[in-house]
Amino acid sequence: MSATILDGAATARTIRDEVAAAVAALRQAGGPPPGLAVVLVGEDPASRVYVAQKHKACQEAGFHSEVITLPGTASEAHVLAEIARLNADPAIHGILVQVPLPSQIDQSRVMHAIDPRKDVDGFHPVNVGKLTMGDDTFFPCTPLGCLELLKRYRIPIQGKRALVIGRSNIVGKPVALLLLREHATVTIGHSRTVDLPGEVARADIVVAALGKPRFVQGAWIKEGAVVLDVGINQVPHPDQPGKTRLVGDVDFETARERAAFITPVPGGAGPMTIAMLLQNTLKARHLLVGAR
Ligand code: NAD
Repeated sequence: MSATILDGAATARTIRDEVAAAVAALRQAGGPPPGLAVVLVGEDPASRVYVAQKHKACQEAGFHSEVITLPGTASEAHVLAEIARLNADPAIHGILVQVPLPSQIDQSRVMHAIDPRKDVDGFHPVNVGKLTMGDDTFFPCTPLGCLELLKRYRIPIQGKRALVIGRSNIVGKPVALLLLREHATVTIGHSRTVDLPGEVARADIVVAALGKPRFVQGAWIKEGAVVLDVGINQVPHPDQPGKTRLVGDVDFETARERAAFITPVPGGAGPMTIAMLLQNTLKARHLLVGAR
C-alpha cells in the first residue's frame, strides 16, 4: 500500500481563503475585521520568523494585525501592561504571546493575564479546563489543525484507537483531548512508555509529537493506519554538505508503505497551525462583537 498524502499546505490554503472570504463579507457589511495582536519579546530569530508569518497571514486574510515588539530586557510588568492594554482594546479580538519568553518573565503569569475570550492560542487555564471538560472553546492551533485535517479528508475518528506520542501542553495533551472529544479511544505514549512499538501497532490513528527525527518506524505501523506527523526536526542534508533539511518524527518513506493516510513534513500538520490561528481569531471576533 502507498498512503494517500494528507496535504496540509493545500488544506491550509483552502481554509485561509475561506476565512478571507468571510472577512471580506464582514467588511462589506460595515462590520469590524478580526483583530490579532502578537506580542514578541526579544530577538529570538525563529520567533521573529514565526511572528512575521502570522502577521503576513493576517494581512492576507484582511485582518487588523498588530505586532508589539518589546526588547529582550523588558520587565514582566511591562509585558503585563501591554496585555492589559490589548485586553481592553476593542479592535483586538485575539492576543498571542510568542514563546519562549526571556528568563526574567514568568511565562505562565503572562499567559494567565490574557483575557480568556481573546486567548486564540487556547493556552489559558480557563480554556484548557473547558477543553478537558469537552466544552467548545479556543483549542490550541497545532492540535486543532490535526483534527481539522482528519475532518477535511473525512477520516472517521469515532471509536478508533488513537495513539498520541508526546504529552506536552502545546501538542500532545490537547491533541489527545480533542481526539477524545471526537470519541476516539485514546492512548498517550511518552518517554517512559514501556513498549512504544507495540502501542503504535495497535493504533488506527497515530499522532507523533515527540520531537525526535524519524523515530517512529514504518514497521511499527498497523496496515491501513492514519499517521499525523507533527514533528519538525532539522537534520543534516543527505546530499548537500553543510545544509540542513526538515524531517518529521516518523520515518516517512517506510511509514507511507503501510499507512492509508500520512502527513508529509514539511507541508503536513505544520501549515495548518496558522490557518487555525486565523479561524480562532475570526471566532473570537464573532463571540466578542457578534457575527455582523
Ligand atoms: P516537547 O519536547 O515539549 O514534548 C515532547 C514529548 O515527547 C514529551 O511529552 C516526551 O515525553 C515525549 N517523548 C520524548 N522522547 C520520547 C520517546 N523517545 N518516546 C516517546 N515519547 C517521547 O515537544 P512539543 O513542543 O510537544 O513538540 C513536539 C514536536 O512537534 C517537535 O518536533 C516540534 O518542533 C513540533 N511542533 C510543531 C508545531 C507545528 O507544526 N506548527 C507546533 C509545535 C510543535
